[in-house]
Amino acid sequence: MLTQAVTTNPAQFVPLDAHPLQNVRKKPLFGLDRTALAARMAAVGEPPWRGRQLAEALYRQRLAEIDQITTLPKALRQQMETESFEVGRPKIAQVFQSVDGTERYLIQGQDENGQTVEAVWMPEGDDGESGDGSEPIQPASIQTDISREAGESKSWSRATVCVSSQVGCAVNCQFCLTAKLGLQRNLTAGEIAGQVVAILDRHSVEVGKDRLNLVFMGMGEPFLNYDNFMAAVRLLVEETGLSPQRMTVSTSGIVPGIERFAQEPDAVRPKLAISLNAPNDQIRGEIMPINRKWPIQAVMDAVRQVRLRSRERITFEYVLLGGVTDQPQHAREVARLVRRSGLPAKVNLIAWNPGPGIAYTMPTPHAVETFRATLSAEGIPVYLRRPRGRDIFAACGQLKRTVER
Ligand code: SF4
Repeated sequence: MLTQAVTTNPAQFVPLDAHPLQNVRKKPLFGLDRTALAARMAAVGEPPWRGRQLAEALYRQRLAEIDQITTLPKALRQQMETESFEVGRPKIAQVFQSVDGTERYLIQGQDENGQTVEAVWMPEGDDGESGDGSEPIQPASIQTDISREAGESKSWSRATVCVSSQVGCAVNCQFCLTAKLGLQRNLTAGEIAGQVVAILDRHSVEVGKDRLNLVFMGMGEPFLNYDNFMAAVRLLVEETGLSPQRMTVSTSGIVPGIERFAQEPDAVRPKLAISLNAPNDQIRGEIMPINRKWPIQAVMDAVRQVRLRSRERITFEYVLLGGVTDQPQHAREVARLVRRSGLPAKVNLIAWNPGPGIAYTMPTPHAVETFRATLSAEGIPVYLRRPRGRDIFAACGQLKRTVER
């Protein structure tokens, strides 16, 4: 641990711990709902409705500094700063821009050790029918100036935001780059919701007007950080105004998490995606060790407990690994699995995205199309996810901090 500032003269070593500013613990407000914000305000002698004002400023107006919250009197803002309150919203520290318009972000959380998480912005989403995983890869650009041009107009008509729920992941899916990190820590609710709000701010998204989808499919397994994940969802729904019907959470099949999720009220329950990725327990156990704890049938039983909205479907995500999970007989097995589940469901196919140190191969375009056509012929609704931001390691399964901060 670094406890001393280095100078050329050892006699001048200054213990950093001795610096008065180093000892001041900031009190972040971002991540608290209006009730908790009201309690903070009550502690400094303010009426409860200050909580509502603060929530409006943090989550709707997306203000990042206390001094910008002009609905509060100046004297109160100064008092809050003196008492070490801060907005404390996670900050975009670095932006990687893909040739396809996708942006990947390193986002600085609220913890003090400087770990970053990753989030992705995909203009026009990633669910187009075209795309077979064979697009040429062009060099990515790294943007270090993260500010946007004033007055820059929107170049997108809809967008998908993908955010992380943990730093790293413990689930150890064999095809996933994030798994290489292991689990480092859970994100707080403020750190999960903060990724979203920072990205909405960067792209001037008008909530309720712009078409925005939010997917919890970045780094980590949301259902192994359940309380913080759901607290973030509630903030985003109740304070920011996003619709839970435009949110999807993907799980590798954490059965106790799915069972809890089934009890969530519709008003705050995102849609559910199961990261299936294999046609049977044998192959799934090899590529997703979590399957040995919760095999496919146990996952299906838990999913059936979720009371779906009318026209809502469960999504089965299926990563096609060349020669491993992409054969026509696998597609027929998947169709049987989906039919036997009795669930209204669709299958999203994802041609595996390569990553350093992972010994799988991409499926051929022919294998992808044959798989898609086989499922379709079996009567299963099937969609091919367009690979987005592959050149900047923003595509599915590729998120891993590439710059330590
Ligand atoms: S695919 Fe998801 S659950 Fe599996 S290791 Fe990667 S981040 Fe974790």
